[in-house]
Amino acid sequence: MNTELPEDPQRRRLRERLELIQVRTDKATSWRESTAVLRSLVNREGFVPIKAKLAVEDLEFLAGAREDVLSFAELGLRLLDLHQPRDAGGITSDTAHPILRCRSCMWRWPCPTFRAMSDAF
Ligand SMILES: [Zn+2]
Repeated sequence: MNTELPEDPQRRRLRERLELIQVRTDKATSWRESTAVLRSLVNREGFVPIKAKLAVEDLEFLAGAREDVLSFAELGLRLLDLHQPRDAGGITSDTAHPILRCRSCMWRWPCPTFRAMSDAF
């Protein structure tokens, strides 16, 4: 007997979108070292004229990078708003450290969502 439910279509689309961003980002070239060098070349107007050789994967990443990062930051802030500790109430012998639970998912604080976010960032 198969008790697994078919995946919710909205959940599946969201997972596919996140996997696409993950793959696209992973294929792009990291600019970490280049930006360290370029930073020293910023002119008086605050710009660096550069010539860059970009692979197709880099262009695909750059085309959506700003929106993707803004979306992830917004997601993180919304999750932080949802998952925050509150006093679980009840009787405790340690009044200085009351038992806290997540106000959204009710897991003991820090909840799995907060821990996953904390681990990722
Ligand atoms: Zn939570």
